[in-house]
Amino acid sequence: MKKKILVCGGGGFIGGHLVKRLKDMGYWVRACDLKRNEFSSSPADEFIVGDLRDPLVCKKVVENIDEIYQLAADMGGAGYIFTGDNDSAVMHNSALINLNVVEEARLQNVKKIFYSSSACMYPEYNQLDPDNPKLSEDSAYPAAPDSEYGWEKLFSERLYLSYQRNYGLEVHIARFHNIFGPEGTWTGGKEKAPAALCRKVAKTEEGGEIEIWGDGKQTRSFLYIDECLEGVLRLMDSDFSGPVNIGSQEMISINDLAKLIMDIADKKLNIKNIPGPEGVRGRNSDNALIKEKLGWAPSESLRSGLEKTYPWILQQSKKALAKDI
Ligand code: NAD
Repeated sequence: MKKKILVCGGGGFIGGHLVKRLKDMGYWVRACDLKRNEFSSSPADEFIVGDLRDPLVCKKVVENIDEIYQLAADMGGAGYIFTGDNDSAVMHNSALINLNVVEEARLQNVKKIFYSSSACMYPEYNQLDPDNPKLSEDSAYPAAPDSEYGWEKLFSERLYLSYQRNYGLEVHIARFHNIFGPEGTWTGGKEKAPAALCRKVAKTEEGGEIEIWGDGKQTRSFLYIDECLEGVLRLMDSDFSGPVNIGSQEMISINDLAKLIMDIADKKLNIKNIPGPEGVRGRNSDNALIKEKLGWAPSESLRSGLEKTYPWILQQSKKALAKDI
């Protein structure tokens, strides 16, 4: 019999790509989300539009399911997470989703569950030096994330692990580091740096100026969506629970990221650094543990991922412009 898989958050960026991948692998897939996918139709066998904060919705979507991938969360980029305005919503909404989903998984004897945590749960004090951040999995404690989003992720990691300890539910947890690619949010305030910068570059005329939050010297690494999915599937197939980093080790400053995108777009623009929410000073994935446990780690270059993402955002912004005219 075909394995039956539930993707919570299947209407979102990573969840949407995951549904496609699981369908390509031949599984029966149910997706659940508050909304359908924005940029393409979902190949899910069943798509339930529902609110996972509601335990009755969770009960329904978990019925007859063998494995769950839990990606639903109230989230966004720096403009959503670091302003403070959305703190209570982020904590309340995402914690409720996780509490409901894991309890239903237990009640309905689901075999295993994947949970998507985030690099945002790492302590801020290890990410003050942009050239030398420390993000090995064992550096998580003493905990001091710089956002409530990170605190909720840490709480939920512990929630899933406690269900594994107390009820034998098989749990696998990844800490994602900045995933990007086509069909990700690219405008509206919840987009992340690569998408926001691709949009700014796409919309600005040659010789013009783009604004970047902070001094632009803050560093990050960015992982292309296909490699993220590869890591998730390998983790789910392994006997390792994690939490484990799934991210790229190719660290770059935000100003240099903008320059890389300009190069791909073949445009010369000026950068204006302005005050704005920017998060920690430095962040990079540490892939020693994933290599040790899964014998694999992401290897695709940032440039190669951006070469696939920029044209998609350029096309989206042209479509949006045409609509406005
Ligand atoms: P996304 O916002 O595109 O997807 C999350 C989905 O969850 C959305 O489609 C949203 O509608 C859905 N959702 C929110 N509240 C819900 C509710 N109450 N009921 C049902 N669905 C609900 O984000 P994404 O980038 O695809 O991220 C997926 C997961 O990975 C999230 O848990 C996120 O925290 C985590 N993560 C992502 C990144 C990244 O760089 N994209 C980095 C670290 C962690």
